[in-house]
Amino acid sequence: MAVKTQRTRMRTQDSIERQSNFLEVALGYSYDEAIAEARRCIDCKNPRCVLACPVEVNIPLFIKYLLEDALDEAFETIYKDNILPSICGRVCPQESQCEGACILGIKSTPVAIGALERFVGDYGMEKHLADTTVPELKHKKVAVIGSGPAGLANAAGLRKKGYDVTVFEALHKFGGVLQYGIPDFRLPKNIVENEVQNLKTMGVEFVKNAVIGKSLTIDQLFEMGYQSVFIGSGAGLPSGLGIPGENLSGVYFANEFLTRVNLMKSRSFPLSATPVKIGDNVAVVGGGNVAMDAARTAKRLGAKNVFIVYRRDEASLPARLEEIHHAKDEAIDFRLLRNPVEILGENRIVKQVVCEIMALGEPDDSGRRRPVGTGETVTFDIDSIIISIGQKPNPILKDNTFGLKTHSWGGIITDENHMTSIPGVFAGGDVVSGAATVILAMGTGKEAAETMHQYIQNKKT
Ligand SMILES: Cc1cc2nc3c(=O)[nH]c(=O)nc-3n(C[C@H](O)[C@H](O)[C@H](O)COP(=O)(O)OP(=O)(O)OC[C@H]3O[C@@H](n4cnc5c(N)ncnc54)[C@H](O)[C@@H]3O)c2cc1C
Repeated sequence: MAVKTQRTRMRTQDSIERQSNFLEVALGYSYDEAIAEARRCIDCKNPRCVLACPVEVNIPLFIKYLLEDALDEAFETIYKDNILPSICGRVCPQESQCEGACILGIKSTPVAIGALERFVGDYGMEKHLADTTVPELKHKKVAVIGSGPAGLANAAGLRKKGYDVTVFEALHKFGGVLQYGIPDFRLPKNIVENEVQNLKTMGVEFVKNAVIGKSLTIDQLFEMGYQSVFIGSGAGLPSGLGIPGENLSGVYFANEFLTRVNLMKSRSFPLSATPVKIGDNVAVVGGGNVAMDAARTAKRLGAKNVFIVYRRDEASLPARLEEIHHAKDEAIDFRLLRNPVEILGENRIVKQVVCEIMALGEPDDSGRRRPVGTGETVTFDIDSIIISIGQKPNPILKDNTFGLKTHSWGGIITDENHMTSIPGVFAGGDVVSGAATVILAMGTGKEAAETMHQYIQNKKT
């Protein structure tokens, strides 16, 4: 078979049909498609893709195994560094990581590493290949706060070192944003549940509805015999626009909106007791993955016109490229260089959003050109508006943990070993970095498992 210069396209659900269901949009590669794409890898001497992967998966090696039809070995190669391959294959921002560094991208399109990882990850899941063998328990207990990717990676790392691990989760389901934030049409929940099940099989204990800082404090965890604690509580507190009209009925924060749809299944109303009423015309403010998820979810709930309001231009949209393409295919309208300045209502219900027209000025600290107001405005009719302009850590834990140092924006301060200002308390993921990515959260959770192990070993008891 001739090697293709352009990457193998992934089949997707029909763009009209999928607007009224929550089934997965991207359908994955068949075996033949995966092999055709794997053949494009030129097996570089110095694979830049590996260095660009935050957890340094040996990408050329897993692709080589795939080409040799050694799928079990391909899975093991990925799984050694990444315990969530089916998830990362679906949601990682590959264009700015592994695929962004692929040498083929210079002259044509990079190898579709994410799609291949998904193919191998799904194969491993179907065949139950995840290595859940663990050493004997050391009878040393460690506590993990939060069951998002940071907490899961940390729990896996510590259990593999023989610790007795308990994960405390505030919600009634495990997986963090993977469970309550990212919709099923991007990440089916059976995949998240399968990964949690692997950890349960390894003997990790999961406690739901446990809000650390309220139900129990970190001091109490130490009193209960936990030798060390990892905080992976994420960044679930939404930021507001700070403009008039934000308290009107019909104004949602994306996290709340997505949680109600994904976790509380409000889309199944009347079977679910938590309906969300959004009407026909929905504005979503923001340009990241969360905004794309909110917009595409609003479409699936029946909104006729959904538009993204974003203050910069298209090139600056921080969402994954695939999500932007899928959103456009689903008739999401992009109203760029528009910044909301007021939400207008009638009888306390939203009716319109007034946006200032923006232009791009000099680059700011993020390296992107700063949006500058022109003084001109434009007004859009709306039935609801979903705000999705960023999240920060919830202060519950910080406010109830004496001595836990945080930045002014709420992020926990850690040293190079991921230890916080409290000896024995470590932290990673979004609660340290601010809203970031699944793979970065996993990376710090995994590293912290190592440094927590060293800390416990060196501790005089
Ligand atoms: C809608 C949405 C879409 C996204 N899309 C992508 C994407 O496509 N690709 C990508 O790479 N990243 C994406 N992200 C970002 C990514 O999901 C996060 O960076 C990642 O989940 C952070 O992992 P974490 O473990 O630090 O926190 P989280 O996933 O937020 O998990 C934290 C967990 O801790 C729990 N918790 C909080 N406080 C407490 C407490 N006091 N006690 C006990 N438990 C507590 C929370 O309930 C939660 O389950 C998206 C985020 C959102 C919101």
